[in-house]
Amino acid sequence: LMQIYRPLNFIGFVYRELRQGLTDIEEMFKLLDQSPEIEDKPGARPLEVTGPVIRFNDVKFNYDPDREILKGVSFEVPAGKTVAIVGPTGAGKSTISRLLYRFYDVTDGSITIDGQDLRDVSQNSLRAAIGMVPQDTVLFNDTIGYNVEYGRPGASQSEIHDAAKMAQVGDFIETLPKGYDTPVGERGLKLSGGEKQRVAIARTILKGPAILILDEATSALDTKTERDIQSALDAVSANRTTVVIAHRLSTVINADEILVLREGHIAERGRHDDLLKRDGLYAQMWNRQREATEAEERLLRTANDP
Ligand code: ATP
Repeated sequence: LMQIYRPLNFIGFVYRELRQGLTDIEEMFKLLDQSPEIEDKPGARPLEVTGPVIRFNDVKFNYDPDREILKGVSFEVPAGKTVAIVGPTGAGKSTISRLLYRFYDVTDGSITIDGQDLRDVSQNSLRAAIGMVPQDTVLFNDTIGYNVEYGRPGASQSEIHDAAKMAQVGDFIETLPKGYDTPVGERGLKLSGGEKQRVAIARTILKGPAILILDEATSALDTKTERDIQSALDAVSANRTTVVIAHRLSTVINADEILVLREGHIAERGRHDDLLKRDGLYAQMWNRQREATEAEERLLRTANDP
C-alpha cells in the first residue's frame, strides 16, 4: 500500500505547491497592478541609489489620449525627506505614485531618482528600491507570518517579529491562538483595513527600501487606530525619501513639503503653517476636515454621556 500511497502523496504535494504558486502569482499581479506595456530598454542599467533624491520635471501624463491627467507637475523630494500630496478626489494624486513605481511611463517631461531617468533603469532594480504601502493591501492566503516575511523572503523569525512590533501589529498577532502561524485571507482570519495596512507597513519595514510611497486609507479610523498607524508610518518613513498621499492632518503637519494638487496642477505648495496662513484651497480643506472631526467627537461624547 505504501508504494501506491507515496507517489499519490507526492502528487498531492506538487499539486498543493503549484496551486499555492498560482494563487500567489495572481495575487502578486493584482498587488502590483502590472502593466505589461512597460518594458526594460535594451541594456537597461540597475538603478544606483545614492541619495535618494526624487525629481518630477514638468511631468505630463494621460491614460487616454483625449484627457490629460497631469498637466506639468514639478517637485523634488530631497534625500530622507517627506513630501505629502493632498487635493480633491480625481486630482491625480495616486497617478503620481503609479508613475514613480513605473506602472506607466510619463507622456512628457521626466522623473529621475538620483539623476537617473526611470525609463533608463531596470524595473527590477527600481522596484527593489521602493516600498509601496497601498490603501488596500492584498494579503496572501497564507499565514500572517508569511505575509510579513514577503517583504524580505528568508528573513529570520526575530526580524519578522521586530518588524511587526515596529508596525504596531505585533501585539495583535501575539494574541491570535496560532500567533504568526495563523492563516489569513479568504480561507483564514479576516483582518480590518487598519490591521491590513499595518501588516503592509511591517512588510515594508522588513524590506527596508530607500524610497517609500504611502497611500493613506481615506476611510475613517478611530483615534487609537489612527495613532497606531501614525506611529507605524513614522517608524517606516524615518530617514527614508517618502512620498505620501495624505488624508490625515497628523501626517501632513509633519511633512517637509505639502503639494496641493488640483486638476493636474500643483495649486499651492509649502509647509502646513504657511499654507494655513495663505487661506486658500489647503486652508479650506483642513478647516472642513477639522469641523467634521469636531462634530464626530461631539457626537461620540453625547453617545457616551447618558
Ligand atoms: P482619489 O483621491 O479619489 O484617490 P486621485 O487624486 O488619487 O483621487 P487618481 O487616481 O490619480 O486621482 O486619478 C486621476 C484621474 O485619472 C481620475 O479622473 C481618474 O478617473 C483617472 N484615472 C485613474 N486611473 C485611470 C486608468 N487606469 N485609466 C483611465 N483613467 C484613469
